[in-house]
Amino acid sequence: MSTDTIVTHPGGFVAGREYSNNGPALPITNPGTGHVFAEVPGGTEADVDAAVQAAREALDEWSALAVSKRGEILAAAAHHVEEHIDELVPLLTREQGKTLRDSRIEITKAIDTLMHYAGLSKALRGAHAPNLDPGVDGTVLRRPLGVVGAIVPWNFPTTLLSNKLAPAVVAGNTVVAKPAGTTPLTTLRYAELLAEGGLPAGVFNVVTGSGSVTGTALVKHPLVRKIAFTGSTPVGEQIMALAARGTKRVTLELGGSDPMIICDDADVAAAASAASMGRFYNCGQACLAIKRVYVFDAVADEVIEQITAKAKRLKVGRGDAEGSQMGPLHTAVQRDEVAGQVQRTLDVGGTLTAGGGPPEDPELGGGFFYMPTVVVDPPHDAPMATEEVFGPALPIWRVSGLDEAIERANASQFGLGSSVWTRDLHRARQAAERIEAGYTWINSRTKVYDELPFGGWKSSGYGKEHGEEAFDFYTETKSVVIRSGP
Ligand code: NAD
Repeated sequence: MSTDTIVTHPGGFVAGREYSNNGPALPITNPGTGHVFAEVPGGTEADVDAAVQAAREALDEWSALAVSKRGEILAAAAHHVEEHIDELVPLLTREQGKTLRDSRIEITKAIDTLMHYAGLSKALRGAHAPNLDPGVDGTVLRRPLGVVGAIVPWNFPTTLLSNKLAPAVVAGNTVVAKPAGTTPLTTLRYAELLAEGGLPAGVFNVVTGSGSVTGTALVKHPLVRKIAFTGSTPVGEQIMALAARGTKRVTLELGGSDPMIICDDADVAAAASAASMGRFYNCGQACLAIKRVYVFDAVADEVIEQITAKAKRLKVGRGDAEGSQMGPLHTAVQRDEVAGQVQRTLDVGGTLTAGGGPPEDPELGGGFFYMPTVVVDPPHDAPMATEEVFGPALPIWRVSGLDEAIERANASQFGLGSSVWTRDLHRARQAAERIEAGYTWINSRTKVYDELPFGGWKSSGYGKEHGEEAFDFYTETKSVVIRSGP
Protein backbone atom coordinates (compact mmCIF):
# COMPACT_ATOMS: atom_id res chain seq x y z
CA MET A 1 0.00 0.00 0.00
CA SER A 2 1.39 3.35 -0.97
CA THR A 3 0.57 6.70 0.51
CA ASP A 4 2.35 8.44 -2.34
CA THR A 5 0.39 11.19 -4.02
CA ILE A 6 1.24 12.57 -7.44
CA VAL A 7 2.88 15.98 -7.25
CA THR A 8 3.89 18.04 -10.23
CA HIS A 9 6.58 20.60 -10.90
CA PRO A 10 7.05 22.63 -14.09
CA GLY A 11 10.60 21.26 -14.34
CA GLY A 12 12.84 24.31 -14.48
CA PHE A 13 14.23 27.19 -12.45
CA VAL A 14 15.38 29.96 -14.76
CA ALA A 15 16.26 33.61 -14.12
CA GLY A 16 15.24 33.37 -10.48
CA ARG A 17 11.78 31.82 -11.07
CA GLU A 18 10.04 28.53 -11.72
CA TYR A 19 10.10 27.76 -15.42
CA SER A 20 7.80 25.40 -17.36
CA ASN A 21 9.62 22.86 -19.47
CA ASN A 22 8.00 21.85 -22.74
CA GLY A 23 9.07 18.20 -23.02
CA PRO A 24 7.07 15.10 -22.09
CA ALA A 25 6.47 14.40 -18.37
CA LEU A 26 9.03 12.14 -16.70
CA PRO A 27 7.77 9.95 -13.84
CA ILE A 28 9.56 10.28 -10.49
CA THR A 29 9.50 7.04 -8.52
CA ASN A 30 9.97 6.43 -4.81
CA PRO A 31 12.64 3.68 -4.84
CA GLY A 32 11.46 2.41 -1.45
CA THR A 33 7.95 1.61 -2.67
CA GLY A 34 8.27 1.44 -6.45
CA HIS A 35 5.43 3.99 -6.77
CA VAL A 36 5.46 7.03 -9.00
CA PHE A 37 4.83 10.08 -6.82
CA ALA A 38 5.63 12.96 -9.15
CA GLU A 39 5.72 13.96 -12.77
CA VAL A 40 8.12 16.52 -14.11
CA PRO A 41 8.33 17.62 -17.75
CA GLY A 42 11.77 17.33 -19.30
CA GLY A 43 13.58 20.26 -20.87
CA THR A 44 13.68 20.58 -24.65
CA GLU A 45 16.42 22.25 -26.65
CA ALA A 46 14.43 25.52 -26.44
CA ASP A 47 14.14 25.20 -22.64
CA VAL A 48 17.89 24.68 -22.36
CA ASP A 49 18.37 27.73 -24.55
CA ALA A 50 16.15 29.80 -22.24
CA ALA A 51 18.24 28.77 -19.23
CA VAL A 52 21.55 29.40 -20.97
CA GLN A 53 20.39 32.83 -22.17
CA ALA A 54 19.39 33.70 -18.58
CA ALA A 55 22.82 32.62 -17.36
CA ARG A 56 24.52 34.64 -20.09
CA GLU A 57 22.47 37.71 -19.22
CA ALA A 58 23.46 37.49 -15.55
CA LEU A 59 27.12 36.93 -16.34
CA ASP A 60 28.50 40.45 -16.85
CA GLU A 61 27.06 41.90 -13.66
CA TRP A 62 27.97 38.85 -11.58
CA SER A 63 31.54 38.60 -12.84
CA ALA A 64 32.06 42.34 -12.28
CA LEU A 65 31.40 42.04 -8.53
CA ALA A 66 34.33 41.90 -6.13
CA VAL A 67 35.28 38.27 -5.60
CA SER A 68 34.74 38.60 -1.85
CA LYS A 69 31.26 40.01 -2.51
CA ARG A 70 30.40 36.91 -4.52
CA GLY A 71 31.64 34.83 -1.61
CA GLU A 72 29.51 36.84 0.81
CA ILE A 73 26.38 36.40 -1.33
CA LEU A 74 26.98 32.66 -1.68
CA ALA A 75 27.49 32.28 2.08
CA ALA A 76 24.22 34.09 2.83
CA ALA A 77 22.35 31.94 0.30
CA ALA A 78 23.89 28.78 1.77
CA HIS A 79 22.73 29.86 5.25
CA HIS A 80 19.21 30.15 3.92
CA VAL A 81 19.37 26.62 2.50
CA GLU A 82 20.62 25.41 5.88
CA GLU A 83 17.60 26.92 7.59
CA HIS A 84 15.38 24.81 5.33
CA ILE A 85 17.32 21.56 5.55
CA ASP A 86 14.42 19.78 7.29
CA GLU A 87 12.37 20.28 4.17
CA LEU A 88 15.06 19.03 1.77
CA VAL A 89 15.96 15.85 3.69
CA PRO A 90 12.66 13.93 3.21
CA LEU A 91 12.41 15.14 -0.38
CA LEU A 92 15.82 13.68 -1.20
CA THR A 93 14.94 10.41 0.53
CA ARG A 94 11.67 10.20 -1.37
CA GLU A 95 13.14 10.62 -4.83
CA GLN A 96 16.57 9.05 -4.29
CA GLY A 97 15.79 6.26 -1.82
CA LYS A 98 18.62 6.80 0.70
CA THR A 99 17.94 6.81 4.43
CA LEU A 100 16.90 10.05 6.11
CA ARG A 101 20.17 10.00 8.00
CA ASP A 102 22.17 9.76 4.77
CA SER A 103 20.08 12.49 3.14
CA ARG A 104 20.90 14.79 6.04
CA ILE A 105 24.60 13.93 5.83
CA GLU A 106 24.57 14.58 2.08
CA ILE A 107 22.79 17.94 2.21
CA THR A 108 24.86 19.13 5.18
CA LYS A 109 27.97 18.35 3.14
CA ALA A 110 26.55 20.14 0.09
CA ILE A 111 25.98 23.28 2.17
CA ASP A 112 29.46 22.96 3.71
CA THR A 113 30.97 22.97 0.25
CA LEU A 114 29.12 26.19 -0.64
CA MET A 115 30.47 27.75 2.58
CA HIS A 116 33.97 26.43 1.93
CA TYR A 117 34.22 28.13 -1.46
CA ALA A 118 32.48 31.25 -0.19
CA GLY A 119 35.35 31.50 2.32
CA LEU A 120 37.96 30.67 -0.30
CA SER A 121 36.81 33.61 -2.40
CA LYS A 122 39.45 35.64 -0.58
CA ALA A 123 42.14 33.20 -1.69
CA LEU A 124 41.35 33.40 -5.40
CA ARG A 125 44.53 34.95 -6.75
CA GLY A 126 46.54 35.26 -9.91
CA ALA A 127 50.33 35.73 -10.00
CA HIS A 128 52.92 38.41 -10.47
CA ALA A 129 56.30 38.16 -12.21
CA PRO A 130 58.39 41.26 -11.52
CA ASN A 131 61.13 42.74 -13.72
CA LEU A 132 60.79 40.45 -16.71
CA ASP A 133 62.90 43.03 -18.50
CA PRO A 134 64.07 46.30 -17.02
CA GLY A 135 60.90 48.27 -16.22
CA VAL A 136 58.63 45.39 -17.34
CA ASP A 137 56.40 43.34 -15.02
CA GLY A 138 54.13 40.43 -15.74
CA THR A 139 50.76 39.80 -14.12
CA VAL A 140 48.66 36.67 -14.48
CA LEU A 141 44.95 37.44 -14.22
CA ARG A 142 42.19 34.90 -13.70
CA ARG A 143 39.01 35.45 -15.65
CA PRO A 144 35.79 33.42 -15.42
CA LEU A 145 34.98 31.07 -18.30
CA GLY A 146 31.39 32.26 -18.80
CA VAL A 147 28.33 30.02 -18.70
CA VAL A 148 29.04 26.62 -17.15
CA GLY A 149 26.83 23.55 -17.69
CA ALA A 150 26.75 21.22 -14.66
CA ILE A 151 25.47 17.70 -15.35
CA VAL A 152 24.95 15.57 -12.25
CA PRO A 153 23.82 11.97 -11.53
CA TRP A 154 21.25 10.69 -9.04
CA ASN A 155 23.43 9.14 -6.35
CA PHE A 156 24.38 12.41 -4.57
CA PRO A 157 22.29 15.06 -6.32
CA THR A 158 23.16 17.93 -3.97
CA THR A 159 26.82 17.38 -3.08
CA LEU A 160 27.86 16.66 -6.65
CA LEU A 161 26.06 19.84 -7.68
CA SER A 162 27.67 22.00 -4.95
CA ASN A 163 31.11 20.70 -5.96
CA LYS A 164 30.58 22.44 -9.31
CA LEU A 165 28.33 25.35 -8.42
CA ALA A 166 30.44 26.73 -5.57
CA PRO A 167 33.83 27.19 -7.28
CA ALA A 168 32.10 28.17 -10.53
CA VAL A 169 30.09 31.08 -9.12
CA VAL A 170 32.82 32.27 -6.75
CA ALA A 171 35.13 32.49 -9.76
CA GLY A 172 32.53 34.68 -11.50
CA ASN A 173 30.81 32.18 -13.80
CA THR A 174 27.07 31.57 -14.07
CA VAL A 175 25.63 28.05 -14.12
CA VAL A 176 22.94 25.94 -15.76
CA ALA A 177 22.52 22.60 -13.99
CA LYS A 178 20.91 19.45 -15.28
CA PRO A 179 20.19 16.93 -12.54
CA ALA A 180 19.43 13.29 -13.34
CA GLY A 181 15.98 12.78 -14.85
CA THR A 182 15.01 10.68 -11.82
CA THR A 183 16.08 13.16 -9.08
CA PRO A 184 15.01 16.65 -10.17
CA LEU A 185 12.97 17.77 -7.16
CA THR A 186 15.64 18.32 -4.51
CA THR A 187 17.78 20.23 -7.00
CA LEU A 188 14.87 22.47 -8.03
CA ARG A 189 14.10 23.29 -4.39
CA TYR A 190 17.81 23.83 -3.69
CA ALA A 191 17.89 26.40 -6.51
CA GLU A 192 14.76 28.16 -5.19
CA LEU A 193 16.24 28.36 -1.71
CA LEU A 194 19.54 29.74 -2.97
CA ALA A 195 17.62 32.41 -4.88
CA GLU A 196 15.47 33.24 -1.83
CA GLY A 197 18.72 33.51 0.12
CA GLY A 198 20.03 36.18 -2.23
CA LEU A 199 21.81 34.50 -5.14
CA PRO A 200 20.91 36.87 -7.99
CA ALA A 201 18.52 35.78 -10.73
CA GLY A 202 20.24 33.93 -13.57
CA VAL A 203 23.42 33.08 -11.65
CA PHE A 204 22.15 29.54 -11.04
CA ASN A 205 19.53 27.95 -13.30
CA VAL A 206 18.19 24.41 -13.49
CA VAL A 207 16.69 22.50 -16.40
CA THR A 208 15.64 18.96 -15.59
CA GLY A 209 15.21 16.19 -18.11
CA SER A 210 16.84 13.24 -19.79
CA GLY A 211 20.50 12.94 -20.66
CA SER A 212 19.86 12.30 -24.32
CA VAL A 213 17.68 15.40 -24.91
CA THR A 214 18.31 17.97 -22.16
CA GLY A 215 21.89 16.93 -21.37
CA THR A 216 22.98 16.82 -24.99
CA ALA A 217 21.38 20.21 -25.71
CA LEU A 218 23.33 21.73 -22.82
CA VAL A 219 26.65 20.26 -23.98
CA LYS A 220 26.04 21.46 -27.54
CA HIS A 221 24.82 24.97 -26.70
CA PRO A 222 27.25 27.45 -28.29
CA LEU A 223 27.12 29.85 -25.31
CA VAL A 224 28.15 27.15 -22.83
CA ARG A 225 31.91 27.43 -22.32
CA LYS A 226 32.42 24.50 -19.99
CA ILE A 227 30.75 21.26 -19.00
CA ALA A 228 31.34 19.98 -15.48
CA PHE A 229 30.10 16.40 -15.54
CA THR A 230 29.75 13.65 -12.98
CA GLY A 231 28.47 10.30 -14.17
CA SER A 232 29.44 7.12 -15.93
CA THR A 233 32.59 6.71 -18.00
CA PRO A 234 30.82 5.95 -21.32
CA VAL A 235 28.67 9.12 -21.05
CA GLY A 236 31.71 11.15 -19.94
CA GLU A 237 33.57 10.02 -23.05
CA GLN A 238 30.62 11.03 -25.26
CA ILE A 239 30.50 14.45 -23.60
CA MET A 240 34.23 14.95 -24.05
CA ALA A 241 33.89 14.17 -27.76
CA LEU A 242 30.88 16.48 -28.15
CA ALA A 243 32.58 19.27 -26.22
CA ALA A 244 35.51 19.15 -28.64
CA ARG A 245 33.32 21.11 -31.05
CA GLY A 246 33.80 24.66 -29.85
CA THR A 247 36.87 23.59 -27.81
CA LYS A 248 34.81 23.66 -24.62
CA ARG A 249 36.44 23.02 -21.26
CA VAL A 250 35.40 19.85 -19.44
CA THR A 251 35.86 18.30 -16.07
CA LEU A 252 34.79 14.70 -15.85
CA GLU A 253 34.22 12.84 -12.60
CA LEU A 254 33.50 9.33 -13.81
CA GLY A 255 33.23 5.72 -12.66
CA GLY A 256 35.44 4.00 -10.14
CA SER A 257 36.30 0.56 -8.84
CA ASP A 258 38.23 1.51 -5.73
CA PRO A 259 40.52 -1.11 -4.24
CA MET A 260 41.19 -1.53 -0.52
CA ILE A 261 44.36 -3.35 0.55
CA ILE A 262 44.42 -4.88 4.03
CA CYS A 263 47.92 -5.92 5.13
CA ASP A 264 48.74 -8.56 7.74
CA ASP A 265 49.68 -5.90 10.32
CA ALA A 266 46.44 -3.91 9.92
CA ASP A 267 43.95 -3.07 12.64
CA VAL A 268 41.57 -5.72 11.30
CA ALA A 269 38.46 -4.54 13.13
CA ALA A 270 38.91 -0.95 11.92
CA ALA A 271 39.65 -2.08 8.36
CA ALA A 272 36.62 -4.39 8.24
CA SER A 273 34.43 -1.61 9.54
CA ALA A 274 35.78 0.84 6.91
CA ALA A 275 35.24 -1.77 4.18
CA SER A 276 31.64 -2.35 5.24
CA MET A 277 30.92 1.37 5.55
CA GLY A 278 32.78 2.11 2.32
CA ARG A 279 30.88 -0.50 0.34
CA PHE A 280 27.36 -0.37 1.76
CA TYR A 281 26.98 3.37 2.45
CA ASN A 282 24.32 4.89 0.13
CA CYS A 283 23.47 1.29 -0.85
CA GLY A 284 26.84 1.02 -2.58
CA GLN A 285 25.93 3.73 -5.08
CA ALA A 286 28.99 5.92 -4.75
CA CYS A 287 31.79 6.53 -7.22
CA LEU A 288 34.34 6.13 -4.43
CA ALA A 289 32.73 3.17 -2.72
CA ILE A 290 35.15 0.36 -1.82
CA LYS A 291 34.52 -1.97 -4.74
CA ARG A 292 37.37 -4.51 -4.35
CA VAL A 293 39.14 -5.77 -1.22
CA TYR A 294 42.58 -7.44 -1.38
CA VAL A 295 43.57 -8.96 1.95
CA PHE A 296 46.84 -10.63 2.93
CA ASP A 297 46.47 -14.40 3.47
CA ALA A 298 47.52 -14.22 7.12
CA VAL A 299 44.48 -12.15 8.19
CA ALA A 300 42.07 -13.09 5.39
CA ASP A 301 39.81 -15.44 7.38
CA GLU A 302 39.40 -12.89 10.14
CA VAL A 303 38.65 -10.03 7.72
CA ILE A 304 36.18 -12.08 5.67
CA GLU A 305 34.38 -13.22 8.81
CA GLN A 306 34.07 -9.67 10.16
CA ILE A 307 32.93 -8.06 6.88
CA THR A 308 30.43 -10.89 6.32
CA ALA A 309 29.03 -10.49 9.83
CA LYS A 310 28.65 -6.73 9.33
CA ALA A 311 26.91 -7.24 5.97
CA LYS A 312 24.45 -9.66 7.57
CA ARG A 313 23.73 -7.30 10.46
CA LEU A 314 22.89 -4.21 8.38
CA LYS A 315 19.25 -3.26 8.69
CA VAL A 316 17.83 -2.90 5.18
CA GLY A 317 14.65 -0.86 4.88
CA ARG A 318 12.88 2.07 3.34
CA GLY A 319 14.78 5.31 3.57
CA ASP A 320 12.08 6.90 5.72
CA ALA A 321 11.63 3.90 8.06
CA GLU A 322 12.88 4.13 11.62
CA GLY A 323 16.25 2.39 12.09
CA SER A 324 17.01 1.69 8.40
CA GLN A 325 20.74 1.56 7.82
CA MET A 326 20.66 0.82 4.09
CA GLY A 327 17.92 1.85 1.68
CA PRO A 328 17.00 0.48 -1.74
CA LEU A 329 18.87 0.87 -4.99
CA HIS A 330 17.74 3.87 -6.95
CA THR A 331 15.93 2.04 -9.78
CA ALA A 332 14.81 -1.46 -10.71
CA VAL A 333 17.28 -1.35 -13.61
CA GLN A 334 20.11 -0.53 -11.21
CA ARG A 335 19.11 -3.38 -8.88
CA ASP A 336 18.89 -5.86 -11.78
CA GLU A 337 22.27 -4.75 -13.06
CA VAL A 338 23.93 -5.45 -9.69
CA ALA A 339 22.07 -8.77 -9.29
CA GLY A 340 23.29 -9.74 -12.80
CA GLN A 341 26.90 -8.84 -12.00
CA VAL A 342 26.81 -10.97 -8.84
CA GLN A 343 25.17 -13.89 -10.65
CA ARG A 344 27.56 -13.78 -13.63
CA THR A 345 30.44 -13.73 -11.15
CA LEU A 346 29.17 -16.69 -9.12
CA ASP A 347 28.62 -18.58 -12.40
CA VAL A 348 32.39 -18.55 -12.95
CA GLY A 349 33.53 -18.99 -9.32
CA GLY A 350 33.78 -17.54 -5.84
CA THR A 351 31.92 -18.20 -2.60
CA LEU A 352 28.88 -16.22 -1.52
CA THR A 353 29.16 -15.46 2.22
CA ALA A 354 26.35 -12.88 2.59
CA GLY A 355 23.32 -11.66 0.66
CA GLY A 356 23.03 -12.50 -3.02
CA GLY A 357 19.40 -11.51 -3.53
CA PRO A 358 16.47 -9.33 -2.47
CA PRO A 359 15.28 -9.21 1.16
CA GLU A 360 12.72 -11.78 2.30
CA ASP A 361 10.54 -9.20 4.08
CA PRO A 362 7.32 -8.96 1.96
CA GLU A 363 6.86 -5.37 3.19
CA LEU A 364 9.86 -4.41 1.04
CA GLY A 365 8.59 -6.27 -2.03
CA GLY A 366 7.66 -3.18 -4.05
CA GLY A 367 10.97 -1.36 -3.58
CA PHE A 368 14.27 -1.89 -5.39
CA PHE A 369 16.09 -3.65 -2.56
CA TYR A 370 19.10 -5.96 -2.70
CA MET A 371 20.78 -7.39 0.37
CA PRO A 372 24.38 -6.49 1.33
CA THR A 373 26.40 -9.12 -0.51
CA VAL A 374 29.91 -10.52 -0.09
CA VAL A 375 31.66 -12.82 -2.58
CA VAL A 376 35.02 -14.34 -1.68
CA ASP A 377 37.78 -15.22 -4.15
CA PRO A 378 35.97 -15.05 -7.49
CA PRO A 379 38.22 -15.28 -10.58
CA HIS A 380 40.17 -12.07 -11.19
CA ASP A 381 38.50 -11.66 -14.58
CA ALA A 382 34.95 -12.09 -13.23
CA PRO A 383 32.46 -9.22 -13.75
CA MET A 384 32.76 -8.09 -10.10
CA ALA A 385 36.51 -7.61 -10.66
CA THR A 386 36.48 -5.88 -14.02
CA GLU A 387 33.21 -3.91 -14.09
CA GLU A 388 32.09 -1.08 -11.83
CA VAL A 389 29.56 -2.57 -9.37
CA PHE A 390 27.25 0.30 -8.45
CA GLY A 391 25.43 -1.36 -5.58
CA PRO A 392 25.91 -3.22 -2.29
CA ALA A 393 28.06 -6.16 -3.42
CA LEU A 394 31.68 -6.58 -2.37
CA PRO A 395 34.25 -9.04 -3.75
CA ILE A 396 37.18 -10.00 -1.48
CA TRP A 397 40.37 -11.69 -2.65
CA ARG A 398 43.21 -13.26 -0.67
CA VAL A 399 46.63 -12.06 -1.83
CA SER A 400 50.19 -13.12 -0.97
CA GLY A 401 51.59 -9.66 -0.17
CA LEU A 402 51.85 -5.99 -1.10
CA ASP A 403 53.27 -6.47 -4.60
CA GLU A 404 50.43 -8.75 -5.63
CA ALA A 405 47.85 -6.46 -3.98
CA ILE A 406 49.12 -3.36 -5.81
CA GLU A 407 49.34 -5.21 -9.11
CA ARG A 408 45.72 -6.38 -8.73
CA ALA A 409 44.59 -2.94 -7.56
CA ASN A 410 46.09 -1.35 -10.66
CA ALA A 411 44.68 -3.97 -13.06
CA SER A 412 41.59 -1.86 -13.66
CA GLN A 413 40.59 0.76 -16.20
CA PHE A 414 39.56 2.95 -13.24
CA GLY A 415 41.73 5.05 -10.93
CA LEU A 416 39.49 7.10 -8.65
CA GLY A 417 40.17 6.26 -4.97
CA SER A 418 42.07 3.56 -3.08
CA SER A 419 42.86 2.68 0.50
CA VAL A 420 45.52 0.82 2.44
CA TRP A 421 45.47 -0.55 5.96
CA THR A 422 48.84 -1.19 7.59
CA ARG A 423 50.81 -0.09 10.66
CA ASP A 424 54.03 -0.06 8.62
CA LEU A 425 54.76 3.45 7.33
CA HIS A 426 57.12 2.22 4.64
CA ARG A 427 54.45 -0.05 3.19
CA ALA A 428 51.88 2.73 3.36
CA ARG A 429 54.17 5.10 1.53
CA GLN A 430 54.96 2.52 -1.17
CA ALA A 431 51.26 1.90 -1.70
CA ALA A 432 50.45 5.62 -1.85
CA GLU A 433 53.14 6.09 -4.49
CA ARG A 434 52.38 3.04 -6.60
CA ILE A 435 48.59 2.81 -6.69
CA GLU A 436 47.21 4.49 -9.79
CA ALA A 437 44.41 6.60 -8.32
CA GLY A 438 43.61 10.21 -7.50
CA TYR A 439 43.20 9.57 -3.74
CA THR A 440 44.77 7.10 -1.31
CA TRP A 441 43.43 6.81 2.23
CA ILE A 442 45.80 5.20 4.73
CA ASN A 443 44.14 3.66 7.79
CA SER A 444 41.19 5.93 7.16
CA ARG A 445 37.60 5.77 6.09
CA THR A 446 37.06 6.95 2.53
CA LYS A 447 35.92 10.45 3.33
CA VAL A 448 36.39 13.29 0.83
CA TYR A 449 37.63 16.64 2.12
CA ASP A 450 36.83 19.98 0.50
CA GLU A 451 40.43 20.98 1.26
CA LEU A 452 42.01 18.33 -1.01
CA PRO A 453 41.76 18.04 -4.79
CA PHE A 454 39.60 15.11 -5.90
CA GLY A 455 39.55 13.56 -9.34
CA GLY A 456 40.18 10.29 -11.09
CA TRP A 457 43.10 8.97 -13.11
CA LYS A 458 42.71 6.74 -16.17
CA SER A 459 39.04 6.16 -17.13
CA SER A 460 37.85 7.69 -13.85
CA GLY A 461 37.98 11.21 -15.16
CA TYR A 462 39.71 14.37 -16.09
CA GLY A 463 40.33 17.50 -13.97
CA LYS A 464 39.80 18.14 -10.26
CA GLU A 465 36.99 19.14 -7.96
CA HIS A 466 37.53 20.31 -4.36
CA GLY A 467 40.66 22.06 -3.13
CA GLU A 468 41.85 25.43 -4.39
CA GLU A 469 42.69 23.45 -7.54
CA ALA A 470 39.00 23.50 -8.49
CA PHE A 471 39.34 27.20 -9.36
CA ASP A 472 41.81 26.26 -12.10
CA PHE A 473 38.97 24.47 -13.85
CA TYR A 474 36.58 27.44 -13.70
CA THR A 475 38.94 30.20 -14.81
CA GLU A 476 41.14 31.12 -17.76
CA THR A 477 44.43 32.80 -17.03
CA LYS A 478 45.58 35.84 -18.93
CA SER A 479 49.17 37.03 -18.94
CA VAL A 480 49.47 40.80 -18.95
CA VAL A 481 52.80 42.50 -19.57
CA ILE A 482 53.14 46.03 -18.23
CA ARG A 483 56.02 48.25 -19.22
CA SER A 484 56.14 51.08 -16.72
CA GLY A 485 59.74 52.19 -17.22
CA PRO A 486 61.05 54.18 -20.17
P1 NAD B 1 25.07 8.65 -16.24
O1 NAD B 1 26.36 8.93 -16.93
O2 NAD B 1 24.13 7.74 -16.91
O3 NAD B 1 24.25 10.01 -15.98
C1 NAD B 1 24.82 11.11 -15.30
C2 NAD B 1 24.14 12.39 -15.78
O4 NAD B 1 24.42 12.58 -17.16
C3 NAD B 1 22.62 12.38 -15.65
O5 NAD B 1 22.18 13.69 -15.35
C4 NAD B 1 22.18 12.01 -17.06
O6 NAD B 1 20.87 12.43 -17.37
C5 NAD B 1 23.21 12.74 -17.89
N1 NAD B 1 23.43 12.18 -19.23
C6 NAD B 1 23.26 10.90 -19.64
N2 NAD B 1 23.56 10.79 -20.96
C7 NAD B 1 23.93 12.03 -21.39
C8 NAD B 1 24.36 12.56 -22.63
N3 NAD B 1 24.49 11.80 -23.73
N4 NAD B 1 24.67 13.87 -22.72
C9 NAD B 1 24.59 14.67 -21.61
N5 NAD B 1 24.17 14.23 -20.42
C10 NAD B 1 23.86 12.92 -20.28
O7 NAD B 1 25.50 8.16 -14.81
P2 NAD B 1 24.59 7.46 -13.71
O8 NAD B 1 24.49 6.03 -14.03
O9 NAD B 1 23.36 8.26 -13.53
O10 NAD B 1 25.52 7.68 -12.42
C11 NAD B 1 26.35 6.70 -11.93
C12 NAD B 1 27.77 6.87 -12.44
O11 NAD B 1 28.30 8.11 -11.95
C13 NAD B 1 28.70 5.80 -11.93
O12 NAD B 1 29.55 5.37 -12.96
C14 NAD B 1 29.51 6.52 -10.85
O13 NAD B 1 30.75 5.96 -10.57
C15 NAD B 1 29.61 7.88 -11.43
N6 NAD B 1 29.94 8.87 -10.40
C16 NAD B 1 31.18 9.43 -10.39
C17 NAD B 1 31.55 10.32 -9.39
C18 NAD B 1 32.92 10.95 -9.36
O14 NAD B 1 33.08 11.96 -8.67
N7 NAD B 1 33.90 10.42 -10.06
C19 NAD B 1 30.63 10.64 -8.38
C20 NAD B 1 29.37 10.04 -8.41
C21 NAD B 1 29.04 9.16 -9.44
